[in-house]
Amino acid sequence: MNKAFVKEQDQDDPFCPRCKSLGEAVSGETLDALVRRDLRGDISAPAYLCGSAGCEVVYFDLFGRVVGREGVLRPVYPKDAGAPLCACFELTCEDVEADLTEGGVTRTRACIDQAKSDAARCLTTSPQGRSCLATVQGYYLKKKAEWQR
Ligand SMILES: [Zn+2]
Ligand SMILES: [Zn+2]
Repeated sequence: MNKAFVKEQDQDDPFCPRCKSLGEAVSGETLDALVRRDLRGDISAPAYLCGSAGCEVVYFDLFGRVVGREGVLRPVYPKDAGAPLCACFELTCEDVEADLTEGGVTRTRACIDQAKSDAARCLTTSPQGRSCLATVQGYYLKKKAEWQR
């Protein structure tokens, strides 16, 4: 085997073993909060969230071990379209769409304001283990762009 190839294999880029998309790092605290107790030992930090909606894998680690949709304690966005965008304040995709239908931002803004406050517990409630703001804003902008088409 040639050396260049071996070196490449040693790199720790966190790609999902199933769909090959780049994962997003999550902490052990996030795993403790979201992975089923009986499966928690199957995966260890550093672990990564697979962000592609169609993929069955939710979390994976660098040993290629995975926790799938069935292995998390509640549905997570974007794996489940009905799951809240912000699990802390339960803002759903439907809420954002209701805002757009009304031409306002009432629900979305209320969630964003709360997500910035001390009441936000994104580390243990959101599947990505960090502020839900990016997810909420990203979804709002994506939907808004679709509406304007
Ligand atoms: Zn995946
Ligand atoms: Zn949140």
